[in-house]
Amino acid sequence: MSGTLYLVPTPIGNLGDISRRCAETLASADFIAAEDTRVSLKLLNHLEIKKPLVSYHEHNKKESGPRILERLLAGENCALVTDAGCPAISDPGEDLVRLCAQAGVPVCAIPGPCAAITALSVSALATGRFAFEGFLPAQKKERRARLDRLKTEERTMIFYEAPHRLRETLGELLEAFGPERPISLCRELTKLHEEILRLTLGEAVARYTENEPRGEYVLVLAGAEQRAEAVSLEHAAAMVRDLTDSGVRTKDAVRQVAEETGVAKNALYAAVVNG
Ligand code: SAM
Repeated sequence: MSGTLYLVPTPIGNLGDISRRCAETLASADFIAAEDTRVSLKLLNHLEIKKPLVSYHEHNKKESGPRILERLLAGENCALVTDAGCPAISDPGEDLVRLCAQAGVPVCAIPGPCAAITALSVSALATGRFAFEGFLPAQKKERRARLDRLKTEERTMIFYEAPHRLRETLGELLEAFGPERPISLCRELTKLHEEILRLTLGEAVARYTENEPRGEYVLVLAGAEQRAEAVSLEHAAAMVRDLTDSGVRTKDAVRQVAEETGVAKNALYAAVVNG
């Protein structure tokens, strides 16, 4: 029988965020696959866990992935960790999960720290529907094309960004979405210098023209305002009649429907009275 691949999220700053279940999973796995074994060793030392580590990262995944799969198929359990946060989310793991799924190896994801969700929850922007965009493409042309496609996105958008690219990215966001679009810059989450800046894009660009970006950032950008469906005058008049039939005064019904639909009050009134 094959073993299980466990996806183990690790703290994005505060070591206290490692859960008991994550620590137990690391302690009971046969081996740990880590993005950077030196980084993970520090966490394991903190937890007083000694385990064989293998390296699994972006540049060796083609060779390392099948080797890990072979061990899983032979019955060993593997815990996958990255430098910080949730494996497979803008981090190595996606390919290994797919490899395991294709080979029928069970994959168990343990919930835990994720920079995107932590930022979204504290952003004070709409959380009901969101689009995780991760890192924008490195090439300018592709970045522009991606941002162009996002111009009409109504869901809240989440971006990861490195500090040395923050200014450029904010400039491009400003160009694509305009200065009034609200953005929450979530910096150094769970760390000593955690800071949540809830600004407009114009204010964010101005702030980082004067100040050097420092630390790690998640950018949470408000979606485009929902455009009300265009409602015809006839349809709006019918809505008014429904209201008046249920006892609402014509004047009040016209005002209410005009507000809801954006149809001009005078034209609506005339359509109802003459119609
Ligand atoms: N898989 C990780 C996760 O989901 O939490 C993300 C890894 S990705 C390579 C690294 C990016 O996550 C950083 O560039 C930054 O945008 C974001 N990030 C990670 N830790 C953060 C923190 N403490 N505060 C703010 N952003 C953070």
